Amino acid sequence: MSTAVSMATLSLYGREAGVLVAASALITLSVLSLRANWPGWARAVERIGFNIGMGTISIFLAGTLFDLLNALNTQNLVVQTFISWLSAAIVNDQINLWLLIALLHLQSQADPRKLWHQNKWAIPINVLVMSAGGGVLAFAVEQFDIIGMGIFFLPIVLSAYAFRLYVNQTKQQMERLEELVAARTNDLRAANAELAELHKTKDAYLAVLTHDMRTPLSSIKGYASVLSKGNLAEDQQRHIAKILTRSQDSLMEIVNNILEIENLQSGTPIELDRTDFDLAYLIVLVSETIQAQAREKNISLQYDENPTEINVNGDREKIKRVLTNLIANAVKYTEENGTVTAKARVEDGYAVVDVVDTGYGIPADELPYIFDRFRRVKGHRHIAVGTGLGLAIVKSLVEAHQGQILVTSEEGAGSTFTMKLPLQTDDALVA
Ligand code: ADP
Repeated sequence: MSTAVSMATLSLYGREAGVLVAASALITLSVLSLRANWPGWARAVERIGFNIGMGTISIFLAGTLFDLLNALNTQNLVVQTFISWLSAAIVNDQINLWLLIALLHLQSQADPRKLWHQNKWAIPINVLVMSAGGGVLAFAVEQFDIIGMGIFFLPIVLSAYAFRLYVNQTKQQMERLEELVAARTNDLRAANAELAELHKTKDAYLAVLTHDMRTPLSSIKGYASVLSKGNLAEDQQRHIAKILTRSQDSLMEIVNNILEIENLQSGTPIELDRTDFDLAYLIVLVSETIQAQAREKNISLQYDENPTEINVNGDREKIKRVLTNLIANAVKYTEENGTVTAKARVEDGYAVVDVVDTGYGIPADELPYIFDRFRRVKGHRHIAVGTGLGLAIVKSLVEAHQGQILVTSEEGAGSTFTMKLPLQTDDALVA
């Protein structure tokens, strides 16, 4: 637009006035851009200098050509006036463009022909704005003086303002759209991670069902077919019955663990049916039920048969489950002729139970993950049937009591699982 105004000025008031208007328009535009981009002021000042030079040179040359052609147009012919305007506009535009191309070439060795090709689409628009815009403005001012300028500028200013509003709004909408896309992408990523986690869990369950349940099932099938053949001595029958019961117990344990872990990890808080009970005596009861398994492997299961009472407040059934898992694991992962000890004591406001075994132990690199769901020591898979859920259940139940479960272990030497339950629970304190 500034070039159109300078063109109008040069036709109305002469070449020097056109140069002046071009220079002041460029200074104003540069100051405006400087204000919007204050930190880059040093470069902006350089740019002002170059722009003024470029603008004034091109308008000066355009003005010279315009004056020359106008001098030939003595009869004031419309066609000739039109040619003067058009030629001056082309000269103005091309000088501007080529000065800019020369600068870019000097700065970055850019290929001038390529630069011209890249910008050539703007040439007809510029020439049109300058010649038509400048011509109409000059005509308006000549005919209506200062009001002409208003008539010319008002619609331009208004439409420029409307255009700017439209651009701003589009920009805002684009930003909002980008935010929305980013939010949706995040949602999708989270859903994918959740899905991957679900797939992993599903695979783990399938592994338990296909691998761990298979062993007791095949054992039941095999011995049942031996039984069905008949003619077995009584002690053989008793032996088979024992194996069948053990296999059935294993299956029961797997099913119970799967059902229980689903409840415990569903996110709903674990409900505790609290009562006061003797933790030391609970060890006796649990050990008695596991004694048979220990005897089968000739494992010495040691516990105090008349222990001093340790009164705790908690869900007795759930703590019984914890002790059963810990003591049964100790027997399960200890070779024949080993020892398992279960003992309770009081320490620092906690009722503490240690379950110590002289078994296979857990490798140090697997120890930190041993309470995770489905986690089993690799070398133990062929030793005993299991789901890798027992210790995850133990941890959830102990933590529901604001207690702690700890483990120390040495491969080949044995493990110690320690359960700590607070003697004074938060609930008891509140009561
Ligand atoms: P599982 O059904 O496999 O016994 P658990 O969650 O009870 O599942 O135990 C997880 C794993 O921790 C077991 O597979 C075993 O490798 C290891 N583990 C548990 N208790 C002991 C122990 N007392 N000694 C050695 N390893 C143990």
